[in-house]
Amino acid sequence: MNYKKASDKWMAIARGEDVDKGSLNCPLCLKHVLCLDCPVVFETNQVSCKGSPYEDWQEHKKSCNLYFPDFCEDAQRLALNEWLFLKSIGE
Ligand SMILES: [Zn+2]
Repeated sequence: MNYKKASDKWMAIARGEDVDKGSLNCPLCLKHVLCLDCPVVFETNQVSCKGSPYEDWQEHKKSCNLYFPDFCEDAQRLALNEWLFLKSIGE
């Protein structure tokens, strides 16, 4: 269920209906404190979402205002990548 909620967050971000607050609004981070037993870690073998599409999102964030409504096409694509990633590990 947390996978679903976590991927839902990214779909909402891609639609401009939500913003990324990092671990503060990630259902997986909230459940798996310090990445312990987080399914993302099992997938990437790295903590803090490194090795997942979230890394690209964070990189992009440095040079772009990702918050709605100033939302660029790249940011939307990166949000959808994270959505797909979380969806794929939840299945
Ligand atoms: Zn951008």
